[in-house]
Amino acid sequence: MVVTIEDIFNNIKCELTPRRKELIINAYEFAKKAHAGQKRRSGEDYIQHSLQTALILARIGMRSKTISCGLLHDVPEDTDVTLEEIRKIFGEEITFIVSGVTKLGKLKLRGEQKEEYLENLRKMFLAMSSDIRVIIIKLADRLHNMRTLEFNPPEKQQRIARETMDVLVPIANRLGIGEIKSELEDLAFKFLDRENYLLTKKMRERETKHFIKYAEKATIEIKKKLLREGVQVQNIFGRTKGVFRLFEKLKRHDMDIKKIYDIIGIRVIVPDVPDCYRTLGIIHKKYHPLVGRIKDYISLPKPNGYQSIHTTIFGPEGKILEVQIRTQLMEDEAEFGIASHWIYSEKKFDFRVSLFGKKVKVPEKELLWIRQLRDWQRSLGEDNEEFMESLRIDFLKNHIFAFTPKGDIINLPENATPIDFAYRVHSDIGNRAIGAKANGKIVPIDYEIHNGDVIEIITSKNPKKPSRDWLNFVKTSGARGNIKKFFKEIDL
Ligand code: MN
Repeated sequence: MVVTIEDIFNNIKCELTPRRKELIINAYEFAKKAHAGQKRRSGEDYIQHSLQTALILARIGMRSKTISCGLLHDVPEDTDVTLEEIRKIFGEEITFIVSGVTKLGKLKLRGEQKEEYLENLRKMFLAMSSDIRVIIIKLADRLHNMRTLEFNPPEKQQRIARETMDVLVPIANRLGIGEIKSELEDLAFKFLDRENYLLTKKMRERETKHFIKYAEKATIEIKKKLLREGVQVQNIFGRTKGVFRLFEKLKRHDMDIKKIYDIIGIRVIVPDVPDCYRTLGIIHKKYHPLVGRIKDYISLPKPNGYQSIHTTIFGPEGKILEVQIRTQLMEDEAEFGIASHWIYSEKKFDFRVSLFGKKVKVPEKELLWIRQLRDWQRSLGEDNEEFMESLRIDFLKNHIFAFTPKGDIINLPENATPIDFAYRVHSDIGNRAIGAKANGKIVPIDYEIHNGDVIEIITSKNPKKPSRDWLNFVKTSGARGNIKKFFKEIDL
């Protein structure tokens, strides 16, 4: 499928003012020129990747600046054009976001990693992107890369799929972007465990073969009933469960697909929260609900902010069917998550939970992470520095992350120095350290490392010679222990 700039305009959810349109066109022309002659492994022109990334961003409701950044995101990394040139034309904000995406691209996951390391990487992603839009662009970029992963060599397929499953899927989930999350998850699953992927997909197909026809009949029947009772149904449609989610559930149910009731379902979108509960009542009056299968995520949202009512019923023709009831706002939040903020920020939408028309104040400490994030971002407007600080305080708690020149991540306590860094990399590097560079510039060895610094340790070939003075400033027990050990061995 070839994407054009028109496709982006057709899918954009914000009002397309002449200025916004001009910005997107400029970004497109700029990226097209920069990537001219470059091809993807799939054989497509490189600009197709930029366009596809931008199209995903438009579809989840991102606005003109983010879409433009999506078009430009690979320019500094893969072409001769520098960030300076981008800054001259597109200004500080766009350059900042694009450079953030470039930085994230340099993070690498090494071989077999422990859970702790993955958690670090996730935190790193969040911390390094001082603007949440950086992560959203990264997710869109990865989604297109996953769609075209088959064109890469097998080892790369495995590495990218693993990283997607372990790092990007949890982030998409945490940001509540269900639409991207489930596609990423299914694509990663396909490459990581092809056998089970195919098996599950086949089972799902067999089970849902007749569903499309049935869903049509069932939606018509349910819609008629609701309209007759005075509920304005805004939308009603059938949906099937994602392959990976289905596999995870099958594993918990002896791989017996008959024990799973939400493979197929119907989603009903109604105007407001009271309508959600009325819809539930009407449906239960007509169709028997299965005991213990009613979940009210409206009054008790999931930790990522997800809101909806789920019930499983004996639907038309007595078939077991899951029905999900929610408002359009909840639907957009579930599919687009934090990104939906940009759709609604234009309409000055109120995000607080409202029950039966009454605004419910959520107690401070029980605020959901996603709402906090959104509120911060909203109240701070374009000032992302303070937002970044809040994010850092919440996530990192006295921890900083620094990079080796190769892009590996070193997790350190606050105020750590290059000597701590050196010993964290390897005791031999620590023992041979004679100097350090931070972000390419020479710094003192007791320099205070900042989050995100790239630290390069200058080592002497011989002889090994740590200094006792280092004990006066090092912050990690690892460095302290190694220095002491060195002198103990010498003193012997
Ligand atoms: Mn890319």
